[in-house]
Formats: sequence, C-alpha cells, structure tokens
Amino acid sequence: MHNVIRKTDADLLLTPNFSDYEGGRRHFSWEDERQRLAGLPGGGLNIAFEAVERHASGALRDKTAFRFLGRDVPAQDVSWGELSRQTSRFANVLRRLGVGKGERLFVLAGRIPELYVAVLGSLKNGTVVSPLFSAFGPEPIATRVNLGAGRVLVTTESLYLKKVSRWRDKMPTLEHVLLVADEAGSTTAVSGTLDLASLMALEPDDFELEATGPEDMSLLHFTSGTTGTPKGAVHVHGAVLTHHATGRFALDLHREDTYWCTADPGWVTGTSYGIIAPLLHGVTSIIDREEFDAERWYGILEQEMVSVWYTAPTAIRMLMKAGAELARRHRFPRLRFVASVGEPLNPEAVWWGKEVLGLPIHDNWWQTETGGIMIANTPAFDIKPGSMGRPLPGVEAAIVERQEDGSVKLVDTAGKEGELALKAGWPSMFRGYLHNEERYRKCFADGWYLTGDLATRDEDGYFWFVGRSDDVIKSAGHLIGPFEVESVLMEHPAVAEAGVIGKPDPMVGEVVKAFVSLKLGFEPGEPLRLELLGHARKRLGAAVAPKEIDFLPTLPRTRSGKIMRRLLKARELGLPEGDTSTLEGGA
Ligand code: AMP
Repeated sequence: MHNVIRKTDADLLLTPNFSDYEGGRRHFSWEDERQRLAGLPGGGLNIAFEAVERHASGALRDKTAFRFLGRDVPAQDVSWGELSRQTSRFANVLRRLGVGKGERLFVLAGRIPELYVAVLGSLKNGTVVSPLFSAFGPEPIATRVNLGAGRVLVTTESLYLKKVSRWRDKMPTLEHVLLVADEAGSTTAVSGTLDLASLMALEPDDFELEATGPEDMSLLHFTSGTTGTPKGAVHVHGAVLTHHATGRFALDLHREDTYWCTADPGWVTGTSYGIIAPLLHGVTSIIDREEFDAERWYGILEQEMVSVWYTAPTAIRMLMKAGAELARRHRFPRLRFVASVGEPLNPEAVWWGKEVLGLPIHDNWWQTETGGIMIANTPAFDIKPGSMGRPLPGVEAAIVERQEDGSVKLVDTAGKEGELALKAGWPSMFRGYLHNEERYRKCFADGWYLTGDLATRDEDGYFWFVGRSDDVIKSAGHLIGPFEVESVLMEHPAVAEAGVIGKPDPMVGEVVKAFVSLKLGFEPGEPLRLELLGHARKRLGAAVAPKEIDFLPTLPRTRSGKIMRRLLKARELGLPEGDTSTLEGGA
C-alpha cells in the first residue's frame, strides 16, 4: 500500500482556494479575515448577518441557499431572499414574545426548513440557540434545556406530544413552546403551545438586527458525551471568522459548488458546516431529512450533482460495507472534493474514496470546543492516509506533555506521543462550559488549550491521531491507541467496523480487546476470529495486537457517528453504562 496520495491536476476540477500551505499560513491574519466579512452596519458582528443578510441584499438574492430533500415530500428550494424574510419573521416573533439578546432557545426537530429558520432567526435577534438531536428522548432534552435555562423551545407537534408535553413541569425556565405542524400548511392547537406558522404570518419580513459583537454568545452546543456527562460549550458570534476561513481552506468552497454536509445540526458539524459556512460562501447546500441509506446517498450525490461533500467516517464505513458494486451503478462527474470529520478516518477509507469515488477523502480534525476545523487535509498538499493533516492558517497546534505543576512542556521530537494542544485565542474557541468554570479552566495551561486527544506530529508537520486520552490502552508498559489497532483490523476484507478497548488484566494492566462488525457476505465464527487475530498479530506485533475479538452486528455509536468505546468497555465489564443520551438508536 502506498504511503502518500499525491495531488495531481486531475484531482482539481477547479483552482483551489488554498494551494500554497506555507505561504498561506505566513500571510494569514484573523484581522484580514475580519475584513472579508461585512460587519453589522454601525459596527459589531453577527453570524446571521454575514450568512444571510449580506447575500440577500445582493447578487445572491434569488440563488438557492438550501435545497431540502425528503422521501415523501417534494424537494424545496429556499433562496437567500426567502431565507432573509423567514428568519426576520421568526426574529420578530421572538421580539414580540419579549425574548431578547443572550436568552436561550432550543430547537428539537428533524432537518426541516423551520429548524434552519429558527437557528438563523434567533441569531439575528441575538438569542442564543442550541439545536438538539430530534431522536433524543425526554430525559436528555430536559437535562439540556435545564442546563441552558432555555426560555423557548421550537419543535414539531409530534415531537412535543411524544417527548416534551408530559415532562414540561420538569423544565421550569421554559416559557414558550413554538410548534411546527406535522403537515405542511396546517396549524397546531396543542394547549400550552403556540403555532409558529400563525405567529410568523402576522409579522413583517424585515427586521433590524440586534446589535451583537464578536464576544456575544451565539450558540450553545452540548458535546456528544462519548466519555461522560454532557457539557454545554458556549460559542460567540466572532466564531464566524473561523467558519469563513475554514470554508475556504478546508472545504475549498467556491460559489459554483453544490455542497452537502451530511451532519445533523444537533452536532456542532451540522451547524458550523451544515448551516453557517456554506451560507457565508454563497454556496447552495443540499439538506436531506432522511437517515443514512447507502443507495439513497449515492443517488443524492449523483442526481443533485454534489461537488463538495462533507461527511463522517461512520458513513464512509457503512458505504464500504454496502460494497463497491452499489457505488459503481452511479456516476459523480461533478464531485471534486470530499472531506470527513468526527473520528479517525482509517487509511483504508481514504483509499476506498480514491478507488470508488475517484477522489481521496480529506480527513479533518476539530471538536465541539474548537467551534471550527483546526487541522485538515486540504487541496494544498499531498495526503498521508491515516493522518488528520496539518494545522490551518491562523491555527497553531503542538504536541505537549502536562507537567505536575500545571504547566505544559512542548514535545519537539517527531513521532513522539503527547496531548494535542492549540494556541488559545482563535475566534471560534469556546468561551466556557455552562456552569462549570472550573472544568473550563482546566482545559488551559500556559496559553495552550489542551484538547484531551493524544496525537503525534511527524517530520513534515502532519498530525496523527492516537486516541482520546481516556480511551488509550496501557498494556505491559506500552501505550496503545485504539485507532491504530482498529485501522489494521479494517484492512481485513471481512471487517466493516472495529472498536478497541483495554480490558483490565492482573498481569499486564490491560489487554487489548476488539469488537468487530462484518461486511455483507461474511459470517462470524471461530475460523474468522483466528484469522483476524493472526492478521492483527502479523501487522501490529504481539504487544499491540488484540488478544480477544468479539463479533457484534453493529457497534454502539453516538448520533454523530463516533464509536462509543466507553460503552463497549462498560458492557464488557458489566459496569453502569453512564450517560447514553447520545447513543444512536437509544433515547
Ligand atoms: P465532538 O466534540 O463531539 O465533535 O468530538 C470531538 C472529538 O472527536 C475529538 O476530540 C476527537 O477525539 C474526535 N475526532 C474528531 N475528528 C477527528 C479526526 N479527524 N480524527 C480523529 N479523531 C477525531
């Protein structure tokens, strides 16, 4: 297998925004980035102004901003002009209800137009918005609304009746529930709620934006909780600078693109890159209401002529599981850039992209806390499959070691493992965990933000993910990153997904245990187990290879697609499962 995917002109259907990595970094400044945006008339900064108003009053007024797709509903195109009018009506509704700047609004809905209108309309009004996964059950909804002291909830009639109405008294701060009717064009009449469409119909479609500044709170995102209880990460309007810069550098967005970000806005990716970044760049976005379906997804890529696609390793692994044959029934002549985030992208998956889609997949790295992409594979340099890429312009990343006295020491040696850290102060950096100042403070030392991820940096400045510090396995004195073991297992033709944990062992501390799900056409059983153990041992050596392998039909994942190693471990050891509110298929 080759180690590097070299960029050739054939990979680049358009001249990339970013082609000189060193020069681009040297000449970049956040101040210049600020100049590329409009700013509010009279000063100030507002995400929705940059994303919607700036374009709605200009040449893009009639261009499609969002194209909503659904299985049983006709496609619906919403232009910038229409988005401006709808979001203004929504903001007027909030103002009339007396909901103002800094107050919190939650959205609980599938990927329907009203969700997008509510998010952007709230931002226009200076109201802090927090989109929740619509699949959440009553408990996680109430926990988050209470943590955020939510005053308003926007949801659909059926979700309200199923998940909120009976628990309403558990959310004392919640004053207004704005309901979207389940059937387009009808109204709702549920006691204790207001019909959103009727309220919006009464309002004018212009709105004078609230005076917000870069440090005013904009979005509240609860982290996906792969390792513990949910934390509310506070974001500000100034984050728009990062969304703008990264849309250019890491996603290579061009005006003529049709872009599809498959993430749900309940996860930070679906907001920063499913709503804000494409709007900022005047790019048409596809939004599909439906859940993953390999055939449907290939169909969307083909029929909608998607040119830039931002997805996640879990989806890529599921497409791989569905087999290359299915992909070959489709053509993607316009597709020119594919990126992935959320979890390590196994080298196997990067190569799969090249073979099946004709394009390598560009892994990038960030977190809820960073608000935007920090480290990425970009059009500007060759890909080393398995690496998350290099820090983007305006971002300084390092590998550090925490010291006993609370300071940090930089690790200069290439290939040496340590904690991934970012120089604090980029515009989309989170400004706090709600009600948890102490936890926030602990994330910083000596001017660095400590990410909680372990990684290495190689001699060319590429970063390689090792694992969440909580997931790393210590076996017989070795530190083993689950990702490395999972990637090797995935190289085997039978393996669709792998999750690796450390299982306590009196002799060696922890032994490596793997859980795998298989591709279509492969049967679990002793012969395959022995074959996989042998394959891993050959590739990784006895110290790192798993000692045990179990087969599972699927691995537990968060709604944002991350394998929940914490849960695999708890189940293996018969321990309490802890917070499972973000577990896919759970409630
Ligand atoms: P979240 O805040 O839920 O988006 O989770 C962020 C975490 O996901 C990071 O701290 C990493 O542990 C993991 N992650 C995100 N992107 C990547 C990537 N490209 N490679 C490896 N891990 C990633």
